[in-house]
Amino acid sequence: MKRKIALISLLFMTILFILSNGFFETIYHVNLFDYFFNSNELTEEDREYLREYGPIIYASDNNSPPLRYYDQANQQYRGLVIDYLQALALELETEILFEPMVWEDALKTLENGDSDICDMYPSKERERIYLFSDPIYYQRGIILVPKDDNSIQSMTDLKGKTVGIQTGDYVYEFLKNAVDGINYSFDQDYEENLNKLLEGKVDAIVGDEPVISYFLDLYELSDDYKIVDQPLYELPSVLSLNKNNKRLQGIINKGVFNLNQTDIMAKIQQKWFGISTPIGSTERVTKITIYVVAGSFGAALIFLLIFLWNIELKKAVDVQTKALQENQNNLQMIIDGINQMIVVMSDDYHIISANKLFFKFFEIEDYDAFYNSYPVVYENILKLIKDDLSNRDMILKGRTCQVSVFRIHYDNQADRSCLLVIEDITDKKVNEARMLQENKMAAVGQLATGIAHEIRNPLGLIRNYAYLMKKRPVSEKVLEQSIAVIENSVDKASTIIDNLLNFSRITDETVVDVNLKPFIEDLMTLNDKQFNRGKVRYKLVLENLELRTMEESLKHILINIINNAVDAMTSKGQLTIWLHKNEKGICIHIIDNGTGMRRETLERLYDPFFTTKPVGQGTGLGLYIAFNELEKIQGKISVLSKVNKGTTFKIQLNDLN
Ligand code: ADP
Ligand code: MG
Repeated sequence: MKRKIALISLLFMTILFILSNGFFETIYHVNLFDYFFNSNELTEEDREYLREYGPIIYASDNNSPPLRYYDQANQQYRGLVIDYLQALALELETEILFEPMVWEDALKTLENGDSDICDMYPSKERERIYLFSDPIYYQRGIILVPKDDNSIQSMTDLKGKTVGIQTGDYVYEFLKNAVDGINYSFDQDYEENLNKLLEGKVDAIVGDEPVISYFLDLYELSDDYKIVDQPLYELPSVLSLNKNNKRLQGIINKGVFNLNQTDIMAKIQQKWFGISTPIGSTERVTKITIYVVAGSFGAALIFLLIFLWNIELKKAVDVQTKALQENQNNLQMIIDGINQMIVVMSDDYHIISANKLFFKFFEIEDYDAFYNSYPVVYENILKLIKDDLSNRDMILKGRTCQVSVFRIHYDNQADRSCLLVIEDITDKKVNEARMLQENKMAAVGQLATGIAHEIRNPLGLIRNYAYLMKKRPVSEKVLEQSIAVIENSVDKASTIIDNLLNFSRITDETVVDVNLKPFIEDLMTLNDKQFNRGKVRYKLVLENLELRTMEESLKHILINIINNAVDAMTSKGQLTIWLHKNEKGICIHIIDNGTGMRRETLERLYDPFFTTKPVGQGTGLGLYIAFNELEKIQGKISVLSKVNKGTTFKIQLNDLN
């Protein structure tokens, strides 16, 4: 991020630099570096050099008003350039001498070192011969034609025409390269060119705009001649020097630079044109300036906006990423906190992820360790998945575990990848067994009370008749009767004890054929006291049916349901047990006309320890155990109940294999 900011800032600054450099080059004709860092003050060495050099000689043409011309009336070399050079002389603290001559000769003197400076357009050809200063002013090259001549609209129309040109003028070099087939008519100066145009000897004259305009005004020719709208070019004028004069070029450039910083050129123009509009391209310069400045600011602004927007975007992404990360962490924490092992398997049966408990339980560091250390477990799990089973109990590391498989669906397409939930149910199983035992013990307790009563009766009889037998003499009749009663009582007590033992026997899971009719009749007889408690009548409607099942379990189920029915009824209660066969198998209905149940009770009916009975009377385990035992023998239970009307439990049973 930091590198990116640095890079963008660098780019931004580079662009700003290029744009402002362009701006300074357009306005001041120096680059940014020179403008700020190069001292343009003359040094002592410069002054020394100039002193030794003596006056600088300026040679140029004598008839290009208003730039420079020899004023016959005053016998003076005058002009805009002359004024400028006088200012330059002051700036350089040296003297500039003026030598007016024919332009062509001026060029020659400069070339052979007889003069020092001259002003002109810099061109490729001229560059070979001269050194150039920085630009001093701008001007245009133009075409002057008779007003009624419409055949010349631009420079290409000059083809085939005769054109008046001042010998050695830059415009010749320009046209020669730009347009073929022009006939040139050379003259010493602009005035002679103009005369030829007036005489009709040339079709047009070409040259510097200020000079041609000056003559146009001087001879009041504006009514008959016109300047073609399209200029030939617009170029800077520079001071040129002899190739060997590099040192002087440097010094002159300092002067030019310093003058450019002042408004001296504007003042000179004011003097010669009466207006302060600079010659040539000032308008263009201003326009370019505005474009450059506006452009730079626009670009800078766009860059800044993009940059800021980028930062905002990044911030938003960061926030989202952080939230996502937090969510993921939370999720991981939740998964790790779950008390079951959670494993995600890929569609090629490899573990993709697992929670902490998985690693802890198997005491492994990674998935490979699992494959290597528990190949059988892995095999069994794969089998479970491949067989498309939902769950199975497995012994893992000596513990009973329930392994459940959940298919993972992506975009509604069934995928072979899946989620495994492995739960250690050892403790649960142990608890279940203990609860069952407890319930059984409670039942035994209840039974014992009833049975004690039952046994006390025959015992009382035995004692009474034994007492009778002890009395002498005993009649034969009494003796016989007493022995019969004692035998009978012993049998009764013995049956009760047998049944008690039967019932309290540890749950036996063997599957046997049960003859249901006598089974239920015995159950009712045995538990008569307990079920009835002297208030309820019962009715048995039993078909003769046989069922292959776990007898012990079935006994528990029926006892618990019947007990509840009896508890729900008053003395007017009627309990009906209906055993019959239906399309699903064997069906037992236990019907009472007791209190019935509300919806809240029905919803929690099979929950362990759910009871509505007072403490000491209900354990809340009866139906829970009935339900669990029913699962064992693959039975189904359902209930219908109406408050104050009664309840019907329906048990659906089938043979076990
Ligand atoms: P407990 O009998 O110890 O209360 P159970 O699991 O056997 O526990 O029964 C749970 C509850 O279900 C009872 O407390 C009782 O409210 C209700 N219940 C069960 N059977 C009946 C029934 N035949 N009539 C009315 N309520 C019943
Ligand atoms: Mg109960």
